[in-house]
Amino acid sequence: MATVFLAGGAGYIGSHTAVALLDAGYDVVVADNYSNSSPEAIRRVERITGKTVQLYEADIRDSARISEIFQENRIDAVIHFAGLKAVGESVQKPLMYYRNNIDTTLTLLETMAKFNVNKVIFSSSATVYGSENPIPYIETMQRGVCSNPYGWTKAMMEQIFEDAAKANPELSVVLLRYFNPIGAHPSGLIGEDPTGIPNNLMPYITQVAVGKRDHLTVFGNDYPTPDGTCRRDYIHVMDLANGHVKATDYVLAHKGVEIVNLGTGTPYSVTEIVETFQRVNGVAVPYEFGPRRFGDIPEFYANADKALALFGWRTEKSLEDMCRDSWNWQKQNPNGYR
Ligand code: NAD
Ligand code: UDP
Repeated sequence: MATVFLAGGAGYIGSHTAVALLDAGYDVVVADNYSNSSPEAIRRVERITGKTVQLYEADIRDSARISEIFQENRIDAVIHFAGLKAVGESVQKPLMYYRNNIDTTLTLLETMAKFNVNKVIFSSSATVYGSENPIPYIETMQRGVCSNPYGWTKAMMEQIFEDAAKANPELSVVLLRYFNPIGAHPSGLIGEDPTGIPNNLMPYITQVAVGKRDHLTVFGNDYPTPDGTCRRDYIHVMDLANGHVKATDYVLAHKGVEIVNLGTGTPYSVTEIVETFQRVNGVAVPYEFGPRRFGDIPEFYANADKALALFGWRTEKSLEDMCRDSWNWQKQNPNGYR
């Protein structure tokens, strides 16, 4: 079976994808600098699957080090998860974001070329649709104007992959645009482990539920949506992980560039998420309405038809599953991997 190199594979989405790839029979090599993760996540991936992961502590920007790893392993395909992802921090420290996210991409593509590895999948984001495109977002739309440096790094990296593929007809690229991943592996052994105060909705909710934070502030209830709060396309991280398995099967068998949305196609509001979480888990999440958060779009969700047509992939988990599994992870690991 083929071997897949996961750059940034110890993180939230990478670790769940490692489980899905190992379960599907792929071999997995992970490199991560643990800037936002822990090697413990990969030890737990091994526990869940009963299989071994070749794990390296390495910065993906370090060409010599990544070449060593490619030398030691026969890599068939690469999935590029490595990147900084906090929107607010990217506004404060734009150069750090451009340096890390763009450099990791360039080093990976250069190393791939050196070792004649021509299959790559990239963690892009729905944020590249910008704020002006109509919903639902479909892959044929132009990339939009991003509202922060994080989003621009994703748009730029997509462009870099497209240009690299234009120059090298052997290169096969899948740009996966994730919507809002939440949830955790049903075992509760791996999950999302943010450092500091969570920026994203679900980890904030679970930290309120476990008593680490007092209450949730819902950012705005005067949006033009059914209940006035923002609506997003939340996707279970195991559905997302299985989407990567399908993308790997696809990329190994094809050439060229494909952009593929990974979402459910169904939006839920912030209030619906909090209410469902409380109902499914029987736990209180006190919340209050606050002002809008700068840069938030009232509503966006995926047209998920292409993933079904191209990969035969569709989501299988419900919002209830997402809420149950997020809580299962948090209550078993109140301090994450620490
Ligand atoms: P994460 O922070 O948990 O995972 C990213 C991993 O990359 C971390 O383990 C981090 O330590 C590692 N990393 C960062 N820079 C590195 C470097 N220079 N060298 C080696 N390792 C490095 O984030 P995630 O939620 O798992 O996201 C994975 C990817 O998906 C990211 O590129 C992110 O931008 C993208 N994405 C995430 C979401 C989301 O909501 N979680 C949505 C859309 C896109
Ligand atoms: N949100 C909120 N309170 C929080 C965090 C997020 O009301 O503490 C809202 C946010 O305004 C957005 C939704 O939850 O409407 C999802 O936010 P998140 O940051 O998780 O993802 P985004 O879609 O912004 O990438």
